Amino acid sequence: MGLALTVLPRAGRSGGPPQAPPISPRRGERRLVDSHGRTIRDLRLSITDRCNFRCVYCMEPDVRFLPREGLLTVDELIRVARACVSLGAQKIRITGGEPAVRPELPEIIAGVAALGVADVALTTNGSIMDARTLAAWREAGLTRITISIDSLDPGAFARVTRSRTTPRDVIDGVRRAVAMGFHPVKLNAVIVRGLNEDQVVPLAALARDLGVEMRYIEFMPLDSAHAWDRSRVVPAAEIAAAIDRVYPLVPLGRHDVSSTALDYAFADGAPGGGRIGLIAPVTRPFCGACSRLRITADGKVRPCLFSTREWDLRPLLRDGCGDTEIEDFLLDATWTKQAGHGISAAGFEQPARPMSAIGG
Ligand code: SF4
Repeated sequence: MGLALTVLPRAGRSGGPPQAPPISPRRGERRLVDSHGRTIRDLRLSITDRCNFRCVYCMEPDVRFLPREGLLTVDELIRVARACVSLGAQKIRITGGEPAVRPELPEIIAGVAALGVADVALTTNGSIMDARTLAAWREAGLTRITISIDSLDPGAFARVTRSRTTPRDVIDGVRRAVAMGFHPVKLNAVIVRGLNEDQVVPLAALARDLGVEMRYIEFMPLDSAHAWDRSRVVPAAEIAAAIDRVYPLVPLGRHDVSSTALDYAFADGAPGGGRIGLIAPVTRPFCGACSRLRITADGKVRPCLFSTREWDLRPLLRDGCGDTEIEDFLLDATWTKQAGHGISAAGFEQPARPMSAIGG
């Protein structure tokens, strides 16, 4: 959902110049660290808040997107990414909204890939993954893709996404991506009680068939309607149990300490390969070792997905400041990163900015 302009995050409400974050006491180290001792290595770079889907757990049909001139330009995006890399970021994930609807995506991928990071990844809803598009992404330097698919039932898929894309379209795109050598190719599904929990096992079967990792994400309070309710969360343990009854699983733990997913292999080795990942921010939070920093498409630094405070980098980018100033701003903003999302804490406040304007 684009931002309804009346809900600008706290910093800009006064209409005065955007506030700079307090100076980090560890600025001198030139590394992205927060006050809880965590080091940032993963940048999530949102390049647009626009999307061609209207997923019911994410955005309203009557969405108003950010004005185009408010989005960071290609040069600005690359400049911010370069600053993060010079401060220690090693992985960059390009997100949206839906990044494929931004025409300059291949150019952005190429610019990010040229920074020499270990990993350039993309999260997409899989609606624009024809062979020519995938080839352009590959050519530009993209190595891995994560594709959202919340249901295999065409009717349910249409109800969830409110789009004309079908599960078949997405699956064909996934097959193409695998065949073109993107690795890993992962699938994401947000499971919402009363919406698609009946898809848990069919999606696991799909992962076995395609030989990819299927990750199930617990429903988080980041929807634009602020309609999230804990009763609609399907806990990861329940999802694992449902799969295990049909396809026995072997727990593998987290790939590394800051990974979001708990990984599982199929006990029978799943002939085509395939794995299961459970991302359980609500029932099994993983904030303690979080290594992620987010930059929104309009240039806000969000140290945490659930930040209720964000820092506006865009004026600096457009005022002709030097690279050191950008880096200092990023170091200071990172230092303010909160300990965790606090979803289960008394007084939890859902961020004003919805997921689609933050980036996965
Ligand atoms: S909620 Fe915030 S601190 Fe927790 S894992 Fe996500 S980004 Fe990191």
